[in-house]
Amino acid sequence: MRRMNGERHGRTHRLELADPTLREWNATVLDTGPEGIVLDRSAFYPGGGGQPPDNGVLLWGGVQTRIVGVRRGDDLILQPHPDDPLPGVGSLVRGAVADERRTALMRTHSGLHLLAGVVFRDFGALVTGGNMEPLTARMDFDLPDIPADFKQRMEDACNIEVSADRRIDIRVLPRDDALRIPDIIRTATNLLPPDLSEVRIVDIVGLDTQADGGTHVASTKQIGRFEVLKVENKGKANRRLRIRLA
Ligand SMILES: [Zn+2]
Repeated sequence: MRRMNGERHGRTHRLELADPTLREWNATVLDTGPEGIVLDRSAFYPGGGGQPPDNGVLLWGGVQTRIVGVRRGDDLILQPHPDDPLPGVGSLVRGAVADERRTALMRTHSGLHLLAGVVFRDFGALVTGGNMEPLTARMDFDLPDIPADFKQRMEDACNIEVSADRRIDIRVLPRDDALRIPDIIRTATNLLPPDLSEVRIVDIVGLDTQADGGTHVASTKQIGRFEVLKVENKGKANRRLRIRLA
């Protein structure tokens, strides 16, 4: 049975799932080549759930290899910058995730969960799509009718939830227990592959509970202030909200 929390991917222990604040660590190179580098331990988020992959560097032997992306193959494959030297198999390296980008993506990812929680609570509408960049994002909702003050109302409601400083908890549950959570059943049942034995849950306590494999901040105050930039019509029932974080 496959585990969604995936603390390992192939031969790589994924450190960022247990500690999303980790930015530097030691590792050993298991495989290397122009198409990618495999480490025994990595905190590079490989992308998924709408959150883009990390970038950063590997430091070794007095030089650095820039990591410009991460690919999920049989192993977790770190993509080196083509101009940089490659560490050999067995090398000890110091890995570092680019902090500013990752921290911004954690805030943005948690912000989208907060937004989804607020729209569901206030309008009963489900998410139909989305996209995130550091500190800016869009999210689409199945929402045929909205009030005239919708944009301002959403911005205010999100900022109230930021100020409330709700805890954001991560836990891993057996599949059957996870599926008993009402919000999970409403939004994610069809997205959970049938062979998953465990499900990672991201819980904005008292607001939103989702099956999710991303990296998140520890409480809603860390998301920062919301600005709803725009509400667009994307089809008869679809409303697209564009947001930015201060
Ligand atoms: Zn998510």
